[in-house]
Amino acid sequence: MKVHEYQAKEILNKYGVPIPKGKVAFSPEEAYQIAKDIGGVVVVKSQIHAGGRGKGTFKSGFKGGVKLAKNAEEARDYASKMLGEILVTHQTGPEGKKVEKVYITEASDILKEYYLGIVLDRAKERNVIMASSEGGVEIEKVAAETPEKIFKVWVHPLLGLQKYQIRELGFALGFSGDIFKSFSELLEKLYKAHEESDATLTEINPLITTKEGKVIALDAKMNFDDNALARHQEIASLRDISEEDPLEVEASKHDLNYIRLDGTIGCMVNGAGLAMATMDVITLEGGKPANFLDVGGSATTERVKNAFRILLSDKNVKSVLINIFGGIVRCDVIAEGVLAAAKEIEIKLPVVVRLQGTNSEKGMELLKNSGQNFITAKDLKEAASLAVKAQKGM
Ligand code: GDP
Ligand code: MN
Repeated sequence: MKVHEYQAKEILNKYGVPIPKGKVAFSPEEAYQIAKDIGGVVVVKSQIHAGGRGKGTFKSGFKGGVKLAKNAEEARDYASKMLGEILVTHQTGPEGKKVEKVYITEASDILKEYYLGIVLDRAKERNVIMASSEGGVEIEKVAAETPEKIFKVWVHPLLGLQKYQIRELGFALGFSGDIFKSFSELLEKLYKAHEESDATLTEINPLITTKEGKVIALDAKMNFDDNALARHQEIASLRDISEEDPLEVEASKHDLNYIRLDGTIGCMVNGAGLAMATMDVITLEGGKPANFLDVGGSATTERVKNAFRILLSDKNVKSVLINIFGGIVRCDVIAEGVLAAAKEIEIKLPVVVRLQGTNSEKGMELLKNSGQNFITAKDLKEAASLAVKAQKGM
């Protein structure tokens, strides 16, 4: 689960990580009031679940999702240009994201910008802390072009973050004296916040130093492990459904593992591994999957019906591929679910079906006798190829 910058900062600040003073606003008038209370120069920051806001452009033509405002009047003006508008950044995709709130913070006097991030390294089975003196800019670019400028330490899950590791990172960033001390304290708190909140990602870009010798988290991004939210009610309550894909929200209500993608072939598969393989084979056959969907090993007719309905409501879908390997789930149950969905919604698109395993003949029989026009395939390669060729309006 993702949260907004202001929410991530509130969590980090509870652990003592220094952040600029600020408050979230839902209207230009509120932005004005907050800016007036803070006094002096403030920053007006669009709150969306995506980065790259500073360099982003609004569909209205207005440039910049993060703006420095000289006074409260200017803050109100910037807020009115951001609120309700669609912001496009390199992370939102061309469709952009609507700004529903802005974060008003005191402006910091930046000496230098750094990058600091914590993420799980699955290959090494431990958290990796990454730091770079090339902060502020896109860290992906630094990683691709000058990877030697990113320093990493891996934290042992039982031993935790060690002092020598903090020193290693601090020295790598060129810190000494008071700034080094501030950085050490910040990193210790940041790591604690990350671990205790079951975050999968904590990213500070930029982490800044100031002339007064302070180290501050100027931006913050946190993602949380969905499977751990049950033990973090406070974090779970920060969920902002308006930031999520409506179809994914609908799918999560039915406990379906559905992730929307930008292709045209809707897939319904049982098992995450088979779903990944199906997406690969579709790609090899020259198509593009519209989604990842794992209906699960214990799919019921109701579940399959909902899954089918959800994947069909994606307007980009031009054909459907149902790929089931019946192990625990029975193929006839899948067929019944598809037919139940077909009763409620008229299927106008070509549907390719491959059923293998438990009760596959029975499932195929049900589909054949349904009066619906399903295209059947024997194996995955054939199924993918048929689904690619069958696409309507391509
Ligand atoms: P992002 O573009 O979505 O990553 O948003 P950030 O919060 O990182 O802000 C983008 C950029 O705006 C930062 O890299 C800074 O250069 C600049 N910025 C943000 N806050 C301040 C501030 O308080 N003072 C100054 N001088 N610049 C800021
Ligand atoms: Mn940033």
